[in-house]
Amino acid sequence: MKDIAAVLDILEKTYPNAKCSLDFTNPLELLVATVLSAQCTDERVNQVTKSLFNKYRSARDYASAPLNELEEDIRPTGFFRNKAKSLKSCGTSLVDRFRGQVPRTLDELVTLPGIGRKTANVILGAAFDTPGIVVDTHVSRIAQRLGLTRNQDPVKIEFDLMELVPRPRWTRFSHELIWHGRQICIARNPKCPQCPLLPHCDYGQETLGATGGGDPVARKAKSGTKRQPARPRQKGGSRR
Ligand code: SF4
Repeated sequence: MKDIAAVLDILEKTYPNAKCSLDFTNPLELLVATVLSAQCTDERVNQVTKSLFNKYRSARDYASAPLNELEEDIRPTGFFRNKAKSLKSCGTSLVDRFRGQVPRTLDELVTLPGIGRKTANVILGAAFDTPGIVVDTHVSRIAQRLGLTRNQDPVKIEFDLMELVPRPRWTRFSHELIWHGRQICIARNPKCPQCPLLPHCDYGQETLGATGGGDPVARKAKSGTKRQPARPRQKGGSRR
């Protein structure tokens, strides 16, 4: 059984300021920023939204915007055609069904065009102070490496983490893992030897244990072998 309390304690001490990195002043701005953050850095999104939020101040502004103009306004965030379509449809839905306001429940949020559980949980946690586990690429990868889930599907991972982590910690835990994924548990080259979670991590233990320590990435490069990421262990130590 994973010592989740120890993992949470280490994360809290390591990332005392972990929070959503997107700039926003109201739920609509957060919704828009989160849609724009797909396949884009938060820094780039924050640059774009500085002027975007001055121009588009309500759901009706997005609903009534000419699509090609909205596309140009968000172009630097990439995938701008799909994102513009989502924002315009979302604005229309908010006006038609929610009197222009961003709804406060996950069930309502996921009915909006382009809004999945990940985006909905970001909005719930950061804008409404309602706990939500955000399963993005960092959370998904680290949860698997730590052995907190044996699933790959984001929704299943979300439910696994919801069972393990106390509800009041859901939002903060998500941001801590996201920060950890950006700084230490990087996708290609996780810095296991300097990771405070190493004593609790299946992947790190397996990687370092098998080779007697040192930098696994450097060893891999030296040997020229391509190591596959370890799958989380099942109870009893067997592989899935
Ligand atoms: S020990 Fe390595 S794989 Fe495990 S959480 Fe830390 S950096 Fe990631």
